[in-house]
Amino acid sequence: MRYFLRALREAAKSWPLLAAAMLCSAGVAALWGANIAALFPIIEVTLRGESLQSWNDQRIEDSQQRIDAGEEELARLTGEIASGERTGEDLAWARHRIDTLNLNVAGDRAVVYSAQKLGPWLDRFLPVDPFQTVLMVVAFVVFSTFFKHVLLLTSTMLVSWVAMNISRNIRVKIFDKALALDRAQFMRHGSAGFMAQVTATAEMLANGITAVYGGAVTEPMKIIACLGCALLVSWRLTLVCMLMAPVVGFLMVWLNRQMRNISKGVLSQAKGYHHVLLEALNNVLTVQAYTMEPFERQRFRDCTSEMMRVGMRHSFYKALANPITEILGIGMVATSIAVGAWLVINQETQIFGVTMTDQPMTVPGIMIFFGFLIGASDPVRKLSGVITGLNMGIVGAQGLYPLLDTESKLAEVAEPKRLPSPHREIRLEDVSFSYDGIDTVLDKVNITIPFGERVAIVGPNGGGKSTLINVICRFYDPTGGQVLLDGVPLTELAVEDLRRRIAMVTQQTELFNETIHYNIRYGRWDASDEEIEEAARKAHAHEFISDFPEGYKTMVGPNGFRLSGGQRQRIALARAFLRDAEILVLDEATSQIDVESERLIHEALSQYVENRTVLMITHRASTLALADAIVEVEHGRAVKRPAKQPQAA
Ligand code: ADP
Repeated sequence: MRYFLRALREAAKSWPLLAAAMLCSAGVAALWGANIAALFPIIEVTLRGESLQSWNDQRIEDSQQRIDAGEEELARLTGEIASGERTGEDLAWARHRIDTLNLNVAGDRAVVYSAQKLGPWLDRFLPVDPFQTVLMVVAFVVFSTFFKHVLLLTSTMLVSWVAMNISRNIRVKIFDKALALDRAQFMRHGSAGFMAQVTATAEMLANGITAVYGGAVTEPMKIIACLGCALLVSWRLTLVCMLMAPVVGFLMVWLNRQMRNISKGVLSQAKGYHHVLLEALNNVLTVQAYTMEPFERQRFRDCTSEMMRVGMRHSFYKALANPITEILGIGMVATSIAVGAWLVINQETQIFGVTMTDQPMTVPGIMIFFGFLIGASDPVRKLSGVITGLNMGIVGAQGLYPLLDTESKLAEVAEPKRLPSPHREIRLEDVSFSYDGIDTVLDKVNITIPFGERVAIVGPNGGGKSTLINVICRFYDPTGGQVLLDGVPLTELAVEDLRRRIAMVTQQTELFNETIHYNIRYGRWDASDEEIEEAARKAHAHEFISDFPEGYKTMVGPNGFRLSGGQRQRIALARAFLRDAEILVLDEATSQIDVESERLIHEALSQYVENRTVLMITHRASTLALADAIVEVEHGRAVKRPAKQPQAA
């Protein structure tokens, strides 16, 4: 609930829009009655050839006559009671008659009062001619219908805007968080986790917020207003009518709990579903190569049918909320009709010995009471939809906010230190690292890499080479020791400041489904076409790019699937060359490039790597030839030695 309240507070920032939407709805409600049916009496009057002015005068006259007659009878009856003329049942009848007469006279007085007020308005604004009045009424109906729909449209658009804006804000926040987390934190959720959060959870939360602003305030207020008025008429009778409320309240609490559990189920199903979907589609080559289609089909069918099962349960409980709330509404009205009718028909003030009213109720009195209860029962019914939305919102917020609250381990310091470019050295001091807190991947590594040095990192698979690079690039912070750039720990630099010094090419090249031009330029938007071509030439990519009919405008397909592995690596290399960073990181960057091209690239590299620090993970002797120093990483230990020494192994 705490998280959901936070979401509500955030949404409340759009309060002017929400308030405007509510005003529009109120306007719509007010104009609802302005249709032909409501104005029918006016038409009826005018069709009889009467003007509204004369009809109004007539009304005053008729009411006045009734008031006079009523007052006369009242005076007579009061006199008879006072003189003791009426006794027994006759006396009771007379008292009841006095009540009725009082009510009638008050009603007629109200009519006279309103008609007198209305008179000048009718004189001023309405024509005396009946036909012209009809025309005016018809014009008013047409205009008010038009205006009502303008308000309705405005209100719908405002509410939709607020709801969509809320889900968009939530989605933007999740996306920002996904990009801000360090790799270990990101991997804990995975792409599928974030995908589910962006789609399903954000939707649930937005539903909840819309439900609250759409009805969780207004509906209970309507109920309270109507019940309050009913209490004024007869508080005891109101309490009797509310006898059902505790039972229904208990049922609603139970239903709430069920709904919340199921909403959690819906959420975890959504995560599982995205997981299965993304895995099968991203690894579609392996799925097809190993003919695992039936297995994956079955997996997808299983998770979708599980989703359907949970969805059906959700629908069931959601639908169940309706009858439960409606039972309360109808129960209230039914009890009031039964009890009220008994009291009125029998002219009693007590039922089962319990006093209900001080005086026997009159027919108009009980009718007003019924009216208030019916008025309360409609919002009670609408409340069920609100409760469903509220539950979804609470579960959505519980799923989402802990993720949004996860502090990125790559948190920026308040006042990051600034360093001149280029740097002088990278130093690792007693750097230890563990992914899971159990296995030590790097164990007290101490190395210094001066600016301009070309370092080859070698060692067996799983020895910790990539981890070492990841720690230097600050994709992870070390669990022990520190990495220093010119004597300043990386944690005291802005991440942006560090990363802009680095260009990186990894074994798994990541390309965007855009043109080759876009992919090379990614990371340096200000680069000119000439610079892009220059970088492509250095990476020996220009030749194959020129062979494409569309050249640099060729779309590479999702993750560059239209290109060969070697071509992809060359584009990634061109991207890194264009970046012109002071630290170049190559993680098996030429592993898929043919021998001849690799030789040419090495030639280009040997010129390019001048005046920058190069860290390359490699197994290839040809790449080793470029290195000034070699760092051997094995079982978490790293030893640095000059490259020209004969290799130990
Ligand atoms: P290399 O690059 O030398 O092949 P890595 O640095 O990739 O080795 O991996 C070193 C060790 O860390 C391996 O034992 C590997 O299983 C483990 N490892 C790598 N990445 C992760 C990760 N994200 N989570 C947990 N363990 C990891």
